[in-house]
Amino acid sequence: MTTTPVALTLNAGSSSLKFGLFDISGAPAVMAVGQIDSIGKAPRLKASFGPGRSPVSRDLTPAEAADHKSALTTALAELRSQFPKARASAVGHRVVHGGPSYDRPMVLTPEVMEELRRLSPFAPIHQPHNLAGIDAAVEAFPEALQVACFDTAFHRTHPKVNDVFALPREYYDKGVRRYGFHGLSYDYISGELKRIAPLIHEGRVIVAHLGNGASMCGMIGGRSVASTMGFTALDGLPMGTRTGQIDPGVIFYMVQQEGMSIDEVRQLFYSKSGLLGLSGLSNDMRALEAAGTVEANEAIDYFVFRIRRELGGLAAALGGLDALVFCGGIGENSRLIRERVCEGMGWIGLELDRERNGRNDTVISTDMSRARVMVVPTNEELVIARAARDFLDTRG
Ligand code: ADP
Repeated sequence: MTTTPVALTLNAGSSSLKFGLFDISGAPAVMAVGQIDSIGKAPRLKASFGPGRSPVSRDLTPAEAADHKSALTTALAELRSQFPKARASAVGHRVVHGGPSYDRPMVLTPEVMEELRRLSPFAPIHQPHNLAGIDAAVEAFPEALQVACFDTAFHRTHPKVNDVFALPREYYDKGVRRYGFHGLSYDYISGELKRIAPLIHEGRVIVAHLGNGASMCGMIGGRSVASTMGFTALDGLPMGTRTGQIDPGVIFYMVQQEGMSIDEVRQLFYSKSGLLGLSGLSNDMRALEAAGTVEANEAIDYFVFRIRRELGGLAAALGGLDALVFCGGIGENSRLIRERVCEGMGWIGLELDRERNGRNDTVISTDMSRARVMVVPTNEELVIARAARDFLDTRG
């Protein structure tokens, strides 16, 4: 009896594990997506399984997700109860950092794993969790092909002038570079544009990935030219709890005048700032839009202001603009943010159609708008599943 070939996708964050199951007998088709949140604290499982099957949403016991390994065991048990015959022949992993050399997905050999461990200091908050997820998956599926897909890889096409910082040269050689992140999302959007708007894809496009993490990427011909994130995923736009771009002098001040340790500053910049810090209320855009307080409105104002600034900067880097694409939880759902970003942007060729924007249409600019404005839902898991399937195909 032959069973359907399936690929498992894993995205291990600091306290969460996102997973997907894909039928890869043809173009990857999703069978299940889900996540376990609050690993090690008060874990919770959420998963959906497509038509005819009820979604699952329940609290877990602490032991069911004490760490990434037990969380993976719990997720796999859930998947097995839904699809008892499925056996993953490949596992695709989201890995935040691929360093200067990995510009595409890689099969995880011991040598690649060694290199990824070496890169951990560049992404100390994310990379170790990604690697823990890989270790757990190798143990669970010793026979499966393990594939890594990097958030940095998509940006390796950007020119050197956008890769360097104005530091003494030795640091560039040591890896202190502008890597850029959210690459799986940009890769997906680039592919979607090629499919649904091939002429736009060939042109100058700015993609705004606005979720809990947020960044923007300028592309020409579907390839990254510049992005707002740099050495770490802290730079660029303000985010749910991250500062975004900030004068590094603030770090010296916090250490020297406020007496903070470097770990405290890191915690402040990554976890207490951004929309949460400015609003004093929430990192969640829906909550801020509903709140209507002065502080919540100021947080929204700052978010929009920085997006508009980066839009101008990226358009200059691209030499003009043919399309602006919104994606991510905020980009795909918030009519208000899209409207405010595009307000008065006629000078750059953007004219929003309020009705189309209100309907969440794919094209939300007017027919007269010189540059097109689009909403394209992103799908990072699918990019990982495709990579896993492609490697399986080439192995025969
Ligand atoms: P992550 O980066 O964790 O994957 P998401 O892409 O899911 O995050 O985006 C989460 C953000 O999207 C949250 O700030 C949430 O409030 C926002 N969001 C989701 N739906 C809406 C909506 N209808 N209106 C405004 N913001 C929304």
